[in-house]
Amino acid sequence: MANNGKLIIISAPSGTGKSTIIGRIIDDPDLRLEFSISATTRSPREGEIDGVHYHFLTVEQFKEAIANDGLVEYEEVYPGRFYGTLKSEIARIQEKGNNAILDIDVKGGVNVKKMYGDNAQSIFILPPSIEALRERLISRATDPIEAINQRVDKAAYELTFKDQYDKQVVNDDLDKAVEETRQLILDFIK
Ligand code: ADP
Ligand code: 5GP
Repeated sequence: MANNGKLIIISAPSGTGKSTIIGRIIDDPDLRLEFSISATTRSPREGEIDGVHYHFLTVEQFKEAIANDGLVEYEEVYPGRFYGTLKSEIARIQEKGNNAILDIDVKGGVNVKKMYGDNAQSIFILPPSIEALRERLISRATDPIEAINQRVDKAAYELTFKDQYDKQVVNDDLDKAVEETRQLILDFIK
């Protein structure tokens, strides 16, 4: 079976701008990207749609997916909140010859890169500073302050993974970061 689709792994501390960058490149026809919709047990944020942004599962449903060997990887990214990459998503995208883009946490990113080797490119997006990250999360206004503090506290730890990624992009000027990411993917898939 023709199976040329590659995996693009994007990781960054929450609030760095991963989703914004992915949103800006996802429809670029040269990249042939499709978003790998993860499963999660967290509740949808305002505007998030089940089956579009995530497959929102109960903890029981998530455990069932694990038991049925339906996940490539999964992590408890925050206490009690599980996130995982669905095998069915990767298959669905690769079968079309498209490249799957994964927005996943640092541990998941390193694991998927190990599994897929040269068929995957891992990109770490860096914030200009931890303070900028906090400001972005506050101005995004999608999370309560406790969740923001939890995410910022975790950022320093997450940044220690950056050298395990193939490429690093600093998201200071958004347009520049988008173009740099686009170019890295283009070079990789060609
Ligand atoms: P992530 O997906 O990494 O959690 P988002 O893409 O949701 O982050 O971005 C977090 C917030 O920061 C959003 O409100 C977004 O508009 C803003 N943002 C993204 N990139 C930049 C940038 N380069 N400069 C300033 N704000 C940014
Ligand atoms: P958020 O709650 O902000 O959508 O995502 C929180 C974190 O979970 C982010 O770092 C995001 O990249 C990560 N994440 C999303 N989906 C997956 C997944 O399928 N696997 C893993 N390991 N992490 C994920």
